[in-house]
Amino acid sequence: MDNRYADVIIDIAHEKVDRPFQYRIPEGLIERVTEGSCVRVPFGAGNRLRKGYVVALKSAAEYEPSKMKEIDSVETGGVSVEGKQILLAAFLKRNYGSTMIQALKTVLPAKVSVRAVELKSVRLAIARGEAEEALALFEKKHQTARARLLKELLFVDCLPYGLVTRKLHIGAATIKALKEQGIIAVDTRQRLRNPIRIKTAAEEKKRLSAGQQKAVDTVLSDYDAGIRRTYLLHGITGSGKTEVYMHLIEGILARGRQAIVLIPEIALTYQTLMRFYSRFGDRVSVMNSTLSAGEKYDQCERAKRGEIDIIIGPRSALFTPFPNIGLIVMDEEHENSYKSESAPKYHARETAEEVARLHGASVVLGSATPSLEAFYRAQQGRYLRLSLTERLTGGQLPSVHVVDLRKELKEGNRSIFSRKLQELLDDRLAKGQQSMLFINRRGYAGFVSCRACGHVMKCPHCSVSLSEHKGGRLVCHYCGYEEPSVKNCPVCKSPYISGFRAGTQQIEEKLGELYPQARVLRMDADTTKKKESYEKILAAFAGGDADILIGTQMIVKGHDFPNVTLVGVLAADMSLSVGDYRAAERTFQLLVQAAGRAGRGALRGEVVIQTYQPENAAIVHAAAQDYRGFYEEEILYREFLRYPPVCNMMAVQIFSGEEERGAALAKRLAERAAQFRDEAEKADKRLCVIGPAPAAVGRVNDIFRFVFYVKYENYDKLIEIKDMLEEEAAAMQLKNELLQIDFNPVNTF
Ligand code: ADP
Ligand code: ZN
Ligand code: ZN
Repeated sequence: MDNRYADVIIDIAHEKVDRPFQYRIPEGLIERVTEGSCVRVPFGAGNRLRKGYVVALKSAAEYEPSKMKEIDSVETGGVSVEGKQILLAAFLKRNYGSTMIQALKTVLPAKVSVRAVELKSVRLAIARGEAEEALALFEKKHQTARARLLKELLFVDCLPYGLVTRKLHIGAATIKALKEQGIIAVDTRQRLRNPIRIKTAAEEKKRLSAGQQKAVDTVLSDYDAGIRRTYLLHGITGSGKTEVYMHLIEGILARGRQAIVLIPEIALTYQTLMRFYSRFGDRVSVMNSTLSAGEKYDQCERAKRGEIDIIIGPRSALFTPFPNIGLIVMDEEHENSYKSESAPKYHARETAEEVARLHGASVVLGSATPSLEAFYRAQQGRYLRLSLTERLTGGQLPSVHVVDLRKELKEGNRSIFSRKLQELLDDRLAKGQQSMLFINRRGYAGFVSCRACGHVMKCPHCSVSLSEHKGGRLVCHYCGYEEPSVKNCPVCKSPYISGFRAGTQQIEEKLGELYPQARVLRMDADTTKKKESYEKILAAFAGGDADILIGTQMIVKGHDFPNVTLVGVLAADMSLSVGDYRAAERTFQLLVQAAGRAGRGALRGEVVIQTYQPENAAIVHAAAQDYRGFYEEEILYREFLRYPPVCNMMAVQIFSGEEERGAALAKRLAERAAQFRDEAEKADKRLCVIGPAPAAVGRVNDIFRFVFYVKYENYDKLIEIKDMLEEEAAAMQLKNELLQIDFNPVNTF
């Protein structure tokens, strides 16, 4: 049947319009109106013609067709950049749950009325010989910031100003001083438009390895054959993935299209950025959270005008309004930061696939430890897996020791450092090599475990850890199952059963007692409150200012430390026992990454993994660096309990100022969701509702939180349920309660 009706979003500049309006499509326009079309429609009482975008086509009218207005005309020339953005917003709204306005705000850069900050760059203003002399002088006088900047400029001639201040941590005063000495010049936008010669020879193009060449050839020949799909580039760190991305980008640029490179913000280091800058010069731009709204807007304008063709950034870089995207790269595809934490709670992976669909682009996902989602899809043939198996940097993989903490306790060692770890720390301190101690703590690991036998208290229905609540209860955050706390371990009867607690600060203190002479740096949420302190601590450690770096998962990403030859994971169980079905996957990824930190340089590294569950699959396979082995076991568990990626899972969170009302609302909505099944779905029991349960953090700032989950293979059915729940909640006119939806959440609530 013909689509005779169109949902139209009107005049997006006027942020007031939150919903699409339905219009009739006149006979003569039916062929020409498509999703994303820009149309003119009569609007308001005066029926003034306004510009709008079609976000959906319908075959049936939502209200009386005779009262419906008609589309006046369609702009020619296909779907514009803006049209694609609007379609993307509609996709976010539909698939992740949010208002249209929230979705539009996610996709479109905030309009900044004041002209944005000028785009500045810093370049060398003197000859190389003179610059080298100046550098030697600065180094002699220990003017390290000046020396650092000069060194970089000798390497590439010209650097974006923001990169210098934000990534190199060189202050405005230093830049000013060098400028006044006539050593450097600061140019503004006008100049930047004329391509500045960045010495592209600085980053030589490498002869690709056979694996790299095959990956590049596959993607590009598919591209030329008109095949667009998603590729999973699977290769350990150092196997040359970034090099593959750069070759692909070059190929895509040569075909007249643009490229988006997603990198988790935490991994967007100066080194990585420089590799792209020195290869592609000023056709590259960076988007990150430290940019002001004005700067972001500016980037978008430059992308629209075709002044740049490559953008590098975290998930939001996906919305860069390029006219004709040919390639989207998503590095470290498994990272949790690719999931948005506020509505629309989109995941960059699937959103990238939608952007690619709208533009006709290819998608390349890269990882050393792919998410179960990506690998599962590759196994099913939905993604094409390309693997890189050689490590091109040389250097051997580290040797891994798994230490059983139960045995340590039995043999009288009550310290948080096992004897093996102490022995190796002694050794490294004596040799002047560096060590990293890592505690994979997640926000609220309230699980209960036995230090004598390793037993973890788990939910009998959901197979995730129970969390300790005040008042002596153990609670499952999926289904709400509860049992009283225990005094003795139900397995071995030992009294050493309790909530697991150890923080970075405690470790620092204990380390100070054991090694008063060691220089220690600590990195965690406390020491990195300020955005830039993260990189500063890493830079200090890289510069040899400390012997030992203690930290949370933050320290396992990004920077390379050639002098680190020992990595200790203090309690692998911390992340293993979070009450979340992804706990094992995350632990595996973290352990592999952590292990990869040891022995990057010429010296071989060693890794100590301390745990109460040495037989756990995540630990065994991480110690062996065996992704495939881990995947095979983990996917069985997901299949058995029907967790993603085998199933889809929608979390419905309810926030309330009053505990009882919140609980009652959660119960009511969960029941409504369960009733929404048709007879067949009821019979095969696969569409199921779990909970409601109080959320992991049950109460924050006097707001009570409840959550229930709906699991089903069919994503569209979950969307229907979401829409129904939202309508239900709207009809109730809730004042003190709030509903939030999260599809395939990456965090426990
Ligand atoms: P990944 O992104 O998988 O960690 P990179 O692309 O960063 O890997 O490569 C790791 C190191 O190997 C880099 O220093 C890079 O310059 C180097 N490298 C990559 N490809 C080649 C190659 N074909 N020949 C020589 N060195 C290479
Ligand atoms: Zn026990
Ligand atoms: Zn449960």
